[in-house]
Amino acid sequence: MVIYKFGGTSVGSPERMQEVQSIITRSGERKIVVLSAVSGVTNTLVRIAEAIEAHETDTAMHELTGLDERYQPFLSDLFGSPSGQQKARLIMEESFRTIRQFMEQDWDDEFRKIILAQGELVSTRWFHLQLQETGIDAILLPALDFMRTNAEGEPDLEYTAARLSEILALYPGIKLFITQGYICRNHQGRIDNLKRGGSDYTATLVGAAVKADEIQIWTDIDGVHNNDPRVVEGTHPIRFMSYREAAELAYFGAKILHPSCVIPAELALVPIRLKNTMQPDAPGTLISLRSSSQSITAVAAKDGITVIKIYSHRMFMAYGFLRRVFEVFEKYRTPIDMITTSEVAVSLTIDFTDHLHEIIRELKQFGEVEWEGEHTILCVVGDNLIKRSGIAQKVFAAIEKMPIRMISYGGSRHNISILIPENYKRDALLQLNSLF
Ligand code: ASP
Ligand code: MG
Repeated sequence: MVIYKFGGTSVGSPERMQEVQSIITRSGERKIVVLSAVSGVTNTLVRIAEAIEAHETDTAMHELTGLDERYQPFLSDLFGSPSGQQKARLIMEESFRTIRQFMEQDWDDEFRKIILAQGELVSTRWFHLQLQETGIDAILLPALDFMRTNAEGEPDLEYTAARLSEILALYPGIKLFITQGYICRNHQGRIDNLKRGGSDYTATLVGAAVKADEIQIWTDIDGVHNNDPRVVEGTHPIRFMSYREAAELAYFGAKILHPSCVIPAELALVPIRLKNTMQPDAPGTLISLRSSSQSITAVAAKDGITVIKIYSHRMFMAYGFLRRVFEVFEKYRTPIDMITTSEVAVSLTIDFTDHLHEIIRELKQFGEVEWEGEHTILCVVGDNLIKRSGIAQKVFAAIEKMPIRMISYGGSRHNISILIPENYKRDALLQLNSLF
């Protein structure tokens, strides 16, 4: 079994959807195809849900008209026959009715989840219809029948594995299955999702659940690049990379992969192949146990970082201090990215700042607190780079003119993270390019 996942741009127009069909019919192995919503649709659905919740019916209707326009080319160009077009229209109208009914009811947070699910529900039904119209046998598997999260909101992989094996056993002769990315049920059985960008995660969870031979993530770029192609010219895709190298990069803003999605694949030892829909024959990037074997594989940057420093004499020779600091972040469900400590101070970074002011207020009980926004984490990833002599020296020589605020070295064997002010990012990425 091979898992194929196509993101929003890959199903973003009728032509692209046809391209997806030609990609998945090129080879005959058994497949599960995971699709995102048509690009832009989930953003519109977010706005629709916000407007309905705020009783701004006019705004919601206006957004819905925009969605209708976004969908029109699919209705006219994806399907050749009038009956196909009619079926496609019914799918869209049913989805719009689901959304509109919430305008007349008292708001419940589950409505938002149901509205957000509409993007993937429509794209997969259309794609399945397109296959049927072309005479290709395929089964549409509702993700809501097998994707579930537990009480902590984490994917319940055991449940998914058990359910999928029951479901797939019902179709011994079928080689092609289509399902929705992103959407799931929570532990109470209510509709939920795996958070924005979660379709990648669906794909690797499904891949791990069925112990697939491979998980292919198809996007519009030919794999993970060694530097940010938006900033630096002449970057190139990395052919091979270990799960660990990929996990570091996914987290630090190499925007190609959902940060959590490497984990299930690594645990199940299923390789992930990143492929480009626009260049289906390009090799892309293979993420598996085989590492890049490069001392420096890639550099990436993550913007929008806030750094918080706590200075406290009570920290000196004390135990339990960091626990109390961390508890504040836990209370406000705010993940910490980087951390460095001295004997009497600790600096840490966050990128989720919704509760920044509450956090600062509570941290003040420990000592002096300072914070500053607009920082960037530079992440240098390499295969075992910490074990190779001279690498840190080269990295710091490359950015010797940058005002470095924090350094994290040795947290993993594969990465060095460096915090700098955001306005130095461009220069830093250009300078670091000399390392390749
Ligand atoms: N459609 C969802 C989003 O835009 C999930 C995904 O595309 O991965 O966030
Ligand atoms: Mg994505």
